[in-house]
Amino acid sequence: MNIRRISILVLMAASLVPEYFCAVTAVAQNTKTSPVSPRVEQVQAIVKEAYEKFKGDKNGKNADYIPYLAKVDSNLFGIAIVTTDNKVLTMGDVTYSFSIQSISKVYSMALAMEEQGPDKVLEKIGSEPTVRPFNSPNAVIDMPTHSGNPFVNAGAIATVSLISGSTADEKWNKILDFYSKAAGEKLVLIDEVYKSEAATNTGNKALSYLLAKYDRIYADPFESVDVYTKQCSVGVNATQLARMGATLANNGVNPATGERVIKTENVPHILSTMMEAGLYDGSGTWAWNVGLPAKSGVGGGIVAIAPGKGAIAVFAPPLDEAGNSVKAQEVIRYVADRLYYNVFSPGSVGLQ
Ligand code: GLN
Repeated sequence: MNIRRISILVLMAASLVPEYFCAVTAVAQNTKTSPVSPRVEQVQAIVKEAYEKFKGDKNGKNADYIPYLAKVDSNLFGIAIVTTDNKVLTMGDVTYSFSIQSISKVYSMALAMEEQGPDKVLEKIGSEPTVRPFNSPNAVIDMPTHSGNPFVNAGAIATVSLISGSTADEKWNKILDFYSKAAGEKLVLIDEVYKSEAATNTGNKALSYLLAKYDRIYADPFESVDVYTKQCSVGVNATQLARMGATLANNGVNPATGERVIKTENVPHILSTMMEAGLYDGSGTWAWNVGLPAKSGVGGGIVAIAPGKGAIAVFAPPLDEAGNSVKAQEVIRYVADRLYYNVFSPGSVGLQ
């Protein structure tokens, strides 16, 4: 018997019992409007399970090539889910503000596409997996596009150079404002992170000049690195990051403010890039195991998007060799499995 026939029979039966009819419609409405209702408690229980299971994991190590990051407490651990109907579920250190780092690249890519359209971004930056570390100069030399994709450092610096503005400050303010709209609240720079990275980012400066050699940077190289360094130093907490993710899950509209931040037609390009390169050379294994577009940052954050459903953000500083938070990967895999979030799994569209 198909679902429609069952529903008709249930409704016919229910109409004979008024109280039952109310309950059925309430559940039906909830299921329609919310990706987690009527099972918020169940989702919260899964988040708690994941938190307990992985909080003792001591694997990985804080990033230390940016001196500030080495000093961040390695035991900090927070999980936040924001759904497309703005339900917020949290656990642990979700108000601690950490540097967004490479997760920023998602939103600068989005901003460049808002301004220039996706074809321009594809042409000027590329969509090429690098199979190299995120800051590899060899990748810039070897790859046909040189810039690779918007999520490796070279491609991200080139993406910043594409964003319009007559001064570096104008670009930076535009970027910060755009991130804030995605988060649904005003975000600010963590000045100490910026200073720490700006004092040590010779590698990124070298990448910017390599790009110039191949004509793949579209504004002053060092100025672009400086704006890029600022964007990486924006502070977010896990809840804000989950809301930034939920804006993508909700087709570009921030579920908390109702504001359209990203054009609908740009969202699939962003999500596919996250699937291809969001966890750098860890992206293949991630797609295999989790099947969700995601982005990591060396500050210890990862945000994963379940399109049409919501986003999960986890913050835990110790990283694996590729520069991805160990606990964040574990938690997201655990939660996504149990919620049937994997976009390649038939379970994600309700099939068994
Ligand atoms: N700001 C960092 C850098 O340029 C970002 C890297 C990352 O988060 N993977 O190296």
